[in-house]
Order: sequence, then C-alpha cells, then structure tokens
Amino acid sequence: MAQRTPLIAGNWKMFKTGPEAADTAGRLRSLVADIVDVDVMVAPQFAALCSVAEALKGSRIALGAQDVFWEKQGAYTGEVSAPMLKAAGCTHIIVGHSERRQYFSETNETVNKKVKAVFEEGLVPVMCIGESEAQREAGKTFSVIEEQLERGLDGVDHAGLERFILAYEPVWAIGTGKTATSDQAQEVHRFIREWVEKAAGNSIANSLRILYGGSVKPENIAGLMAMDDIDGALVGGASLDADSFAGIVRPCSAGSA
Ligand code: PEP
Repeated sequence: MAQRTPLIAGNWKMFKTGPEAADTAGRLRSLVADIVDVDVMVAPQFAALCSVAEALKGSRIALGAQDVFWEKQGAYTGEVSAPMLKAAGCTHIIVGHSERRQYFSETNETVNKKVKAVFEEGLVPVMCIGESEAQREAGKTFSVIEEQLERGLDGVDHAGLERFILAYEPVWAIGTGKTATSDQAQEVHRFIREWVEKAAGNSIANSLRILYGGSVKPENIAGLMAMDDIDGALVGGASLDADSFAGIVRPCSAGSA
C-alpha cells in the first residue's frame, strides 16, 4: 500500500475574526510543533487569511481558503480569485463544500470551473463530495459520488490529480454530531479510489489523499484513520478549538502512543 502522509484540515467556516483566528492558529502551531509526520492545514474566513498567514509563518501548517471564484480578476463584486488567495499565502483551496452547494447554489459545473482555476494557479484543490441523507436512504450514495467526481473533474488533466485532495463528506454527518461509521466511510473511500484508478491509473490512485469529513473529533479519529483508504480528515466544529484540533492531529502521528 502506498504511504500517504495524513492530512488534517480545519475548516473554520464563518467563525473567528482575524485576531481570534490568528490566536487559535498560534496556539495550534505550538501544540503540534513536534509532529512532523502529519500535514495540517487551516482554512479561516477570507478576512482572516493575512493575519493567520502571519501567525503561521515558518511553521509546517498550511493555509487554505474556503472557496474561490474562477475568474482571475474583474467586475465580480464580493468574489476572490485564486491568484489573490495565493498572494495572501494560501496553498490549498476548499472547493464544493456542501454548505456552498446547499446555501450558495454551488453545482458540479461551478465546482469544476473552480477546480480548474485552482489548478491553473498551482494550488491544491480540496474538492468536497458527499451524499445527502435522502440520497443515502434511497441507495444512491455511489451514483451521487460518481456524478460529482465525473462532473467536478471533467476536463481536468488526470496527471494533475497527483496534487489533488478529495474530501468525502456525507452531508448528513456535517455539523450534526452524526459520524459515518469507519466502515461506512471506508466503503465510500474505496469506491472513490477505485474510480480514480480507472480514470487516472494505479499510481495516482495510490498516492491520492482522500479525507473524511463529518463530525470528526479527537474521540473518533483513530477509528477512521485505521481504515485503509482514509488519509486524514476535513474538520469543522472540532477544529475551532486549538486543543481539540491538536487532539485530532496527534493520534494520526506514528509517534503517538
Ligand atoms: C466541515 O465543515 O467540512 C465539517 C466536516 O464540519 P463538522 O466537522 O463540524 O461536521
């Protein structure tokens, strides 16, 4: 099995002012300073990016954004482009989060345009996919995931998938306290990896990191990470507190007891 470095990514959603986010980032930085075999990323809201970039300067913690617009610049009031996020210090950009799909009319087509814009800038897209509760109950989980992959990645050079990150986030598990069981998550992660293998070949499929997201906490991370195809987590609520975030990062390190 390929050795994939775990990645724990925090999505801070629309929480924390710049100073608050910088404070949490600084505390997280100290708490995980000794961990070198787990990648860590935080995605604060846009207005906090520069303060957090400053707080993380010289650390191993990567900076991510929660969304992006696909044009580079122009008369698009309220939007932020990939080159702008790169200049602010971002290396990763979350695309297609279910809250954006649900509340801001994000579709597989807009996700696709954003993924391409992120790639073009040399940044890493963290593309979120996942089924709703109704879709799972109707037995449509795999067809929904397949469609999100096909349409989200349409026209994307498969060689580029090497530096791609996918996040499987069942919508029914986000912010609800309901976590998919490790077996439920593994089943979908396996399906995703097999899809990538068919599309881009064995080597890319083996090196691709697939994160699980949905009510991940210090208490359930070890069980999830024990699964063959789960390579880390995209964490919302439990990433807002530095101690709890560090409590998710630490068990992913080979050095943890
Ligand atoms: C998320 O925002 O991507 C997420 C998974 O949130 P939570 O951990 O709060 O469920």
